[in-house]
Amino acid sequence: MNKPVIAIHGGAGAITRAALSAEKEQHYIQALSDIVAAGQVILAQGGSALDAVTEAVRLLEECPLFNAGKGAVFTHQGTHELDACVMDGRTCDAGAVAAVSRIRNPILAARAVLENSSHVLFAADGAERFAAAHGLEMVEPDFFFTQERFEQLQRAQAEQGRVLLDHDGAAIQSNAPLDPDRKFGTVGAVALDGLGNLAAATSTGGMTNKQAGRIGDTPIIGAGCYANNATVAVSSTGTGEIFMRNVSAYDVSALMEYAGLSLQQASDKVVMEKLLAMGGSGGLIAIDRFGNVALPFNSEGMYRGFGYVGDAPSVGIYR
Ligand code: ASP
Repeated sequence: MNKPVIAIHGGAGAITRAALSAEKEQHYIQALSDIVAAGQVILAQGGSALDAVTEAVRLLEECPLFNAGKGAVFTHQGTHELDACVMDGRTCDAGAVAAVSRIRNPILAARAVLENSSHVLFAADGAERFAAAHGLEMVEPDFFFTQERFEQLQRAQAEQGRVLLDHDGAAIQSNAPLDPDRKFGTVGAVALDGLGNLAAATSTGGMTNKQAGRIGDTPIIGAGCYANNATVAVSSTGTGEIFMRNVSAYDVSALMEYAGLSLQQASDKVVMEKLLAMGGSGGLIAIDRFGNVALPFNSEGMYRGFGYVGDAPSVGIYR
């Protein structure tokens, strides 16, 4: 039996051009370690991979350092539209929500869809009604407001409509290790539990200055999120349109299943070759059915961490 393991990410992007604040960097390291540790506890107590990834992503949504839930980026129109997805590798069941602005934890809504609906993806008002009907906490849209992200939107708009990856944008002023104006701040988690089950979860505010109504890769099965016990669990972060056009998360699985590539070979091929060839920036986290972990990214950095049960969390930001 392989050791249970969890991996998480908090988005990929460019390293800040501002003088780094060691203190701020430490905030990110601490948050990533604490959330890996929370996932390890669930797995150590015999919890499922599905529970571990759901809880890890919920904690990442609650942390304003990352672009999901509280701390999500703004659309061009100054609103928030959040996307999330969760997939159970044991059954290949999945649930997702897109373009929601009133659900405090979109990942819990995605989980409710997985558990309580024969559908896979709900969007906008219908998703919010579904979440409310299943007892999830609803908030006013201004719950998601943070001053840092608002300033990021203003900078993006001043640059003639640039659409930013979240960690690609704020560091200029914020001392965040990855430049928030040039970063993808999506969050995600993948895990393997003690029964050999895989799961993946991803949640995002999308890209700063995106058009209202734009939905990225995050809630799309096979692009931003995929899990299948036969192969691998994957959560993506980066230029969503390119991940969708490459079906990147599923591509890692397909390369393993049909071409016999190892986890490392498959994930490197997707991130370092196929995405780059189309101009896609970002990375992904993946765990295979044997408990191997891969965390490739083609940007300058990616907030990331992983931990086998019984080991200390291992976290990183830069290459
Ligand atoms: N992939 C996300 C999107 O396109 C952005 C991100 O990873 O930060 O919505």
